Amino acid sequence: MTSNPLLEPGATIGILGGGQLGRMLAMAAARLGYRSHIFCPDPDSPAFDVAAAQTVAAYEDTAALDDFAAAVSVVTYEFENVPVDSAFHLDRNVPVRPSPAALYMAQDRRNEKIFLTDRGIAAAAFSAVDSAKAVSAALDKLDAPAILKTRRLGYDGKGQTTVHAANDAEGAWRTIGEARAILERVVPFEREISVVIARDQTGATAAYPPVWNIHENHILKTTRAPAPIPDTLAKEAQAIASRIVETLDYVGVMGVEMFVVNREGELSLAINEMAPRVHNSGHWTLDGAATDQFEQHIRAIAGLPLGSPEMIAPRVEMTNLIGDEANDITALASEAGDCIHLYGKAESRPGRKMGHINRLRWSEDGSAKV
Ligand code: AMP
Repeated sequence: MTSNPLLEPGATIGILGGGQLGRMLAMAAARLGYRSHIFCPDPDSPAFDVAAAQTVAAYEDTAALDDFAAAVSVVTYEFENVPVDSAFHLDRNVPVRPSPAALYMAQDRRNEKIFLTDRGIAAAAFSAVDSAKAVSAALDKLDAPAILKTRRLGYDGKGQTTVHAANDAEGAWRTIGEARAILERVVPFEREISVVIARDQTGATAAYPPVWNIHENHILKTTRAPAPIPDTLAKEAQAIASRIVETLDYVGVMGVEMFVVNREGELSLAINEMAPRVHNSGHWTLDGAATDQFEQHIRAIAGLPLGSPEMIAPRVEMTNLIGDEANDITALASEAGDCIHLYGKAESRPGRKMGHINRLRWSEDGSAKV
């Protein structure tokens, strides 16, 4: 459905997915006077605690989807692995934002790459592969080592492995579960950055400043805002993100991950991937920007004007609390300006994101950790 006028205060927003992103979206919706209805198969979803209504059902359960569509005024999603058929099914009865077409593009790495390369937007060279033999053939074109990534359902380094030589192909193919994949040339990046951008239903966009993302064990550990890159490159990164959301006629917040490549002092950008949702590298905005990414997303899908993406402190650092780290919260958030966000997850497991801390810093002296 295309029409999506201004949602009346008190209207209900449907959110597919009940993790921390759904939870923070529901909290932002409540601040704007909306109710949230979370649809998630997991009965222990952290978003349930802060929502007015819940559905526990499989994403493929069309009867449950129909009841959900009847109970809400607009549907959004907090993760890109919602089955696209379910999004199209819902969209027949209630507007789904961002559109199912954007979801279709972003949930498959091959589609995403074709979208970018067709538009001349730089990304790592790739080949689509569907067998170990194809991996080995593609390696000839792309140079070893290369990265084998499943087309769908990969996250935090899962579903990917490095292929060092043609005789690695069989093993690598098994490692990723023999799923349809892409083989990607390694980008010799200097730094990983991302742009979180919002686009509303009138076509207006608001891009946050590019941020620097630092990973540990394939999981985002720290985001620093703003990224320490030249102004011209920051503007170029925002312009690419704008072009992507405009081309898709996108409504909502998107995270665009990019590599900064330094070739003998000349800096350039290559897109890594696009997330059609609020993004972990935008969590700093909860305390560090005039309008946070969750509110921005709700504004966009509810037909409200976008807020300012300006930073309200010169530097902000977001640190994810992973596994048991949340137990050390007193030590980790010891300075004034350290803002604590915990997701209310009952059980901590290695690699599980339990919360994050936003550190706002106004100076570059010894006390500044950014
Ligand atoms: P992804 O799941 O595609 O975001 O990949 C996870 C991480 O693997 C990225 O954040 C990079 O650190 C690394 N990576 C992915 N693709 C490439 C590439 N083509 N070249 C170099 N590093 C990569």
